[in-house]
Amino acid sequence: MRFVNCCKCGLGKSRTNAVPGEGNPDARIVFVGEGPGADEDAQGRPFVGRAGKLLDRIINAMGLQRKDVYICNILKCRPPENRDPKPDEIAHCLGYLQDQLEIIQPEIIVALGAHAARTLLETTKSIGHLRGQFQQYYPGLGKMPIKLMATYHPAYLLRSYLPENRRRVWDDMKTVLTELNLPVPQRGGK
Ligand code: SF4
Repeated sequence: MRFVNCCKCGLGKSRTNAVPGEGNPDARIVFVGEGPGADEDAQGRPFVGRAGKLLDRIINAMGLQRKDVYICNILKCRPPENRDPKPDEIAHCLGYLQDQLEIIQPEIIVALGAHAARTLLETTKSIGHLRGQFQQYYPGLGKMPIKLMATYHPAYLLRSYLPENRRRVWDDMKTVLTELNLPVPQRGGK
């Protein structure tokens, strides 16, 4: 993969491992987060820390397993101290994600958190405004748009582990399952 040795932005110098993404190359759902954290940087795998464990639980609650979906990030290398991605870093890295989405051609993208949602939707709206209904991701001229569901990032959910936030995320995932004609388990969002 091209980005394993990429140094197009400054994060190439500070990372331990690039974190390309992993999962089913024919996935119907692609989860897109913001960028790798410390655990991900150490292992070269996406969403393997505490937030990743919560994402696993969300995926399992949907009646799916990690191998059924594809999981990746906007940035392929960890920003130091988990700071927010900078616009130039996103600009340099976004092409890799666009290529991944072009290859996988998912039916639905789940954007985890404001950075992923705003980047893919090219908007400055808040996650609270964007979540709850499908938005459209436009891959480029002449290409079919892909439905995008924005929802809270698992790391945010861990910080604000409130019943209403968990219910909102579960509502978003139920909407995704319904759109894909998949069964909606009863136990999620607890
Ligand atoms: S974050 Fe993206 S653009 Fe920057 S060095 Fe890593 S792979 Fe390259």
